[in-house]
Amino acid sequence: MGRVMEAHKGASSGPLRGKIIRGIGGFYYVDTACDGVYACRARGIFRKDGKKPLVGDDVEITVVHEKDREGSLDRILPRRNALVRPAVANVDQALVIFAAAAPEPNLNLLDRFLISMRQQDVQVVICFNKEDLVERARMDELKKAYLQCGCEVFGMSVLKQSGLQEVISLLQGKTTVVAGPSGVGKSSLTNYLKPDAGMEVGELSAKISRGKQTTRHTQLERIAPQTYFLDTPGFSSLYVTGIEETQLRDFYPEFSQRAQGCYYQNCCHLTEPGCAVKQALEQKEIASVRYENYRQIFEELKNRKKY
Ligand code: GDP
Ligand code: ZN
Repeated sequence: MGRVMEAHKGASSGPLRGKIIRGIGGFYYVDTACDGVYACRARGIFRKDGKKPLVGDDVEITVVHEKDREGSLDRILPRRNALVRPAVANVDQALVIFAAAAPEPNLNLLDRFLISMRQQDVQVVICFNKEDLVERARMDELKKAYLQCGCEVFGMSVLKQSGLQEVISLLQGKTTVVAGPSGVGKSSLTNYLKPDAGMEVGELSAKISRGKQTTRHTQLERIAPQTYFLDTPGFSSLYVTGIEETQLRDFYPEFSQRAQGCYYQNCCHLTEPGCAVKQALEQKEIASVRYENYRQIFEELKNRKKY
């Protein structure tokens, strides 16, 4: 039984609705609300339309062989969004996990991640794990710095099982991409959340589960009805791409809020006189770590253009 309660299973009729949780070897694995997972072939019409089903797509299927759990993928319901990396559709939010300590949080990396998600219009929830290893004051400092940038921020400890209820409730009913560097407790959390991991996939017929993947595939885990998460490989570096250095400030909500007070309308908040952002920084209303990282990424974007 999962950590999040399963709803009662009900009878179904007509085409089944579900969500693609995995695509491999020409099959799309569709998780239906009440009837479990079916391995489905996409109908030819998708290829004709140049429409490729994506993990995360909500779809309609018809059952071809009930015994073999095979179906046919008939229709893709309208997509709300689609991420490029990882390739997944209908993402509600990203949960980014950093450790408060061991390893020390690389906040520069976190800021780059926030920029990348904002570029893709994905809401981010930040979770600092291993709160058992640091003083309360350090947790508060981390939370404060990131609450200002318009994210939800949580502290937790998977080890001591604190703060986990909050994490569960913010996942409920949503599709969440889970990301973070390695060593922060991502696997510990996902193992905690997974109900009897892989059971449904393991029950599929030998024919369709042949060739157990050796490489990683994009795969959604269902932890409750309508509740999915996608674990992504740990990342150690991220380059900001697709923006000019002068656009960088737009990705810092705590800057934008104050920019009206700057003397220059197009202030980049660096060396310009009469800068309201720098003033807020001096008054510790803006976290210095956020500002320093901004400056570094700004320089990086500017220098990249020279070559
Ligand atoms: P991943 O690389 O992000 O998947 O991290 P893991 O889940 O493998 O965890 C890395 C290490 O951190 C392991 O030794 C875990 O036991 C430990 N760890 C995970 N969560 C916590 C926590 O809340 N507190 C402490 N002190 N250690 C933790
Ligand atoms: Zn300014």
